[in-house]
Amino acid sequence: MNKYKAKKIITIVFSAVLFICAGFGAAADSGLYTAELFGGMIACRTNPDISVAAPAAENAPYVIAIDPGHGGMDTGAQRLMDEVDICDKTAGYLYRMLENDENFTPMLTRDTDSFPSPKERAAAANSRGASLLISIHANSDSHSSSSGFECYALPPGRQLHSRSLKLAGLISSHMQQAGRKIRGEAEACGIKYAYYFGSDKKIVPSTDSKIRSRKTFGVLENALCPAVLVEQCFITNSADIAAWGSDEGCRKATRAYYRAIKEYFMANNQKFFQKKY
Ligand SMILES: [Zn+2]
Repeated sequence: MNKYKAKKIITIVFSAVLFICAGFGAAADSGLYTAELFGGMIACRTNPDISVAAPAAENAPYVIAIDPGHGGMDTGAQRLMDEVDICDKTAGYLYRMLENDENFTPMLTRDTDSFPSPKERAAAANSRGASLLISIHANSDSHSSSSGFECYALPPGRQLHSRSLKLAGLISSHMQQAGRKIRGEAEACGIKYAYYFGSDKKIVPSTDSKIRSRKTFGVLENALCPAVLVEQCFITNSADIAAWGSDEGCRKATRAYYRAIKEYFMANNQKFFQKKY
């Protein structure tokens, strides 16, 4: 969507170096997320900030806030289907999956018929002491050929940026392991940052680490825990809907989100999570 050619070249070279490092098992230390896919490796650039350590195991069960986008009078984007249907279905599946895991206490940021503001959704998560927040949306575009997975992390410069980026990296990685195509530059792994300029939005890939003071999505900005907004599939692309917006598609995406959440906490809690992962 945006052209950052010079930066892209640097990023590609940098990613290639990290890619080779990953092959020698240095990925974890370099802050690089890797995922096996079709016998190959995917490399995402992330910030190797050591402060991304997950909370200690004693804090479990972790409260996980699930934010189904839109709701009530707001159906979200409407094309081949209503966006809100994907949001609600996936949120419901994720809630049940987490509910069946003793390590987690899921919560929803809204009822099925309400439409709270982004701030109110974040406040609902904060009031329950959520450890993570995932906001579920679906994408749309004027070109029906647009497809692929995207997600948004809290931009650089914010206190929870590194943790949000870590969660986004894990979500993207697990979606790719499930066979999901990502949208945009491979080295950004479908992770983006959004900035508001009045009613206009500027979107940059996560390889653009420039610190900007402009606000991002309210639900990410106001959450007191690492938060990620996912765009699960394009409701303007029938193949995308069939694979990732259908009932089975929503279940597949849910499993990827669940595995990402699990892995987020596993880093420091290997023993604790061993039995169910
Ligand atoms: Zn939406």
